[in-house]
Amino acid sequence: MDCRADIDACDYDLTVSDSMSDSRPAGVAQVGVLPGDYHIHTTFSDGTGSVAACIERAISVGLTEIGIADHLSAVQPSVWEIPSISLAQLECYVAEVREAASRYDEITVLLGVEADYVPEHETQLRALLDGWPFDYVIGGVHGVDGFDFDDPARRHDPRWSDSDALLAAYYETVRRAARFGGFDIIAHLDYIGLWGHTPGPGVGDSIDAALDAIATSGAAIELNTDRFSDPAGVMYPSGELLRALGDRGSPLVISSDAHAAEHVGRLWDEAMERAARAGFCGALRLSDRTLVPLPQRAAAADH
Ligand SMILES: [Zn+2]
Ligand SMILES: [Zn+2]
Repeated sequence: MDCRADIDACDYDLTVSDSMSDSRPAGVAQVGVLPGDYHIHTTFSDGTGSVAACIERAISVGLTEIGIADHLSAVQPSVWEIPSISLAQLECYVAEVREAASRYDEITVLLGVEADYVPEHETQLRALLDGWPFDYVIGGVHGVDGFDFDDPARRHDPRWSDSDALLAAYYETVRRAARFGGFDIIAHLDYIGLWGHTPGPGVGDSIDAALDAIATSGAAIELNTDRFSDPAGVMYPSGELLRALGDRGSPLVISSDAHAAEHVGRLWDEAMERAARAGFCGALRLSDRTLVPLPQRAAAADH
């Protein structure tokens, strides 16, 4: 699916929506239908907000669709010490998200998970995902070859002395995640750069192979707005990779990776501007798998 077009060619509805209240916090768009936020953590993993609190926040900032997506590791405890929904709690998680969703007419709430991708655990992950009625699954790569690269305690680990090798291993893991085929969204691509390491020319082939695999899989690429808790202070992926995925026809989702209810929908204006710069004029609505135009006022005002 080619979800992009020249920005000037997009037919946007710039009508101010009555449903978007003046109480919306700074950084949230004022026009159009906002793209849904599909990467939200709750107290079922490492978030601080309840499912209901996250839904109510989403309504208050004008979102019409969200997805709850707590961490899920197929083999527990996780090799990365990621706080997963415990397997014993999974039934409660599914029931609580479904029940909460049924209580709100003004917003569509989907049931998702952020599945931790570990190549050696593919069989267990596939069996787990097949056993539950998730509306969608986000694939997250949080470590490579047994190395927990985002652990601050390992920031000066000797493995970083050959950062290109580590980055190439990361993109190889992403490629395998895409080939796994079980993911609707690839989370925070480029996250390996959180400590400031940038890929040398020798990593280019690995990056291209990962991008090709993502595009071939049909998974959407996530623009992750959580630059506040990121050591590098950036949104993932980089503008360059975002554009490269758009060139390959990958659809886009914008998500907050919220770990607190007040972070749901955060920095939507900035994210939509980044998406527009990368050539996207639409985002994927997961409930019906259709592309909807991005509100463009913020981007248009700068051009
Ligand atoms: Zn993640
Ligand atoms: Zn996450």
